[in-house]
Amino acid sequence: MSKSARLASQGLSHLEVLARMRDMRTEDANWREGRTWSLVYNAGEDVRRVAAEAYTEFMSENGLSPLAFPSLRRFEAEVLAIAAELFHGDTAAGTMTSGGTESILMAVKTARDFARAERGITEPELVLPASAHPAFQKAAHYFGLKPVNVPVAADFRADVAATRAAIGPRTALVVGSAPSYPHGVMDPIPELAALAQERGVLFHVDACLGGFLLPFARRLGHALVDFDFAVPGVTSLSADLHKYGYAAKGASVVLYRTPELRRHQFFTYAGWSGGLYVSPSMAGTRPGGAIAAAWAVLKYLGEEGYLRLAGQVLDTARALREGIAAVPGLRLIGEPGLSIFAFTSDTLDVYALGDVMEARGWKLDRQMSPPALHLMVTPAHAQVVKPFLEDLGACAASLARGEPAPDGSAALYGMLGSLPDRNEAEGFLLQFMDGLYSGE
Ligand SMILES: *Cc1c(COP(=O)(O)O)cnc(C)c1O
Repeated sequence: MSKSARLASQGLSHLEVLARMRDMRTEDANWREGRTWSLVYNAGEDVRRVAAEAYTEFMSENGLSPLAFPSLRRFEAEVLAIAAELFHGDTAAGTMTSGGTESILMAVKTARDFARAERGITEPELVLPASAHPAFQKAAHYFGLKPVNVPVAADFRADVAATRAAIGPRTALVVGSAPSYPHGVMDPIPELAALAQERGVLFHVDACLGGFLLPFARRLGHALVDFDFAVPGVTSLSADLHKYGYAAKGASVVLYRTPELRRHQFFTYAGWSGGLYVSPSMAGTRPGGAIAAAWAVLKYLGEEGYLRLAGQVLDTARALREGIAAVPGLRLIGEPGLSIFAFTSDTLDVYALGDVMEARGWKLDRQMSPPALHLMVTPAHAQVVKPFLEDLGACAASLARGEPAPDGSAALYGMLGSLPDRNEAEGFLLQFMDGLYSGE
């Protein structure tokens, strides 16, 4: 956001505009070649083209009005029906949203409004394992719920006994992840959901990450705990189409066990001078392109396509996990069995390792408590297992020999990790955001 940018008096040609944009992306993360381990779910150029063409075709249409665009209404209804079937929701009802965060915001708002209407709770609480995605903290912050944070167990999964103790008379919602983003482990959903049900409390499964991977992993023979509406006590579930659904960005689903529960999500207003207003979710205008692209990719891949891609992802992830565990000094965190995991070291500075790997063109996310590097595996990574593991082995060995790491983020993470209290770290992050948005 350079302060020197002004709206030019004269427009540029179509080609000039595109050429300038392509110039600007030269420093962007290199996801096409599988060198980036987060943010982009690459299922190959054919899938991307289907999504891109569907998106462009419906780019101008607006999913806000259910009456103006019957095509979008039908796409959304079919996407939701497919999701409900995948997640064993015979009576399930939901909406599409712009992503995992919006799905989670809606599930929390629904739980708050349900608790208020049905149980008279005016100061609702949200019970969250430490591994739950920050979108739940954001939801609590936006909608005025009190987060009750529960440490995870030694295996990094939600702690059932601690969760039991955290549920109280004001609890509106309990949350579990399938799987968690930081360590890729499945929370004990059946036990957590049973606890919630016993206490008459709603229970949300965050399958934002795993939603469109787990059903296919199971069909491929992977042993998984039950995580969806087949589990008694699960009352809502979120699953992102723009992750392992391979849809264009801006697509997720949130589902509830019944349409009666979903009613608490909707917003209606009949007193506006502009006429009657209804809106299913946070957004007003809803981009038709994202809805259309999600439908198109589901139809293009079909069960066969998702099974093939899931097989590729899970095989690649296993090869990577085995390769990483075999590098002297490195170990996996918890027992991740799916497509996402983190590793740490008792002898090496993993942040320095991240910096040496980055100098070789590999972009790994850094995690804290415990310090770790993180991988989210997609079909595009099948081709890089060998060079990645070779580089990782070489980089770990060079650090073990005491060779210096290039300047990178190690110092910053070391500093943030050593800050005694969270407020101080959050103050630092605010300063970072100010800087980012003022072009400094
Ligand atoms: C990605 C993710 C989210 C948030 O989804 P966004 O699409 O980034 O808003 C929530 N929960 C889990 C487990 C995730 O992986």
